Amino acid sequence: MFGFKKHCPVCGVDVKKETSPERFGKYFCSDEHAKKYTDLQMLKKDEEPDKGGCCC
Ligand SMILES: [Zn+2]
Repeated sequence: MFGFKKHCPVCGVDVKKETSPERFGKYFCSDEHAKKYTDLQMLKKDEEPDKGGCCC
């Protein structure tokens, strides 16, 4: 058994996976940072170049 240390990807603080909110397989120090990270991921997706067929 390893004592895996998780870190909040937003602020880098140590988190306990038992008690932390999880998104995308990552653990966060708070719901706030989980949400922030989610928002960042959404932004990234928005920036992705055209993958639909619709163009303007
Ligand atoms: Zn954090």
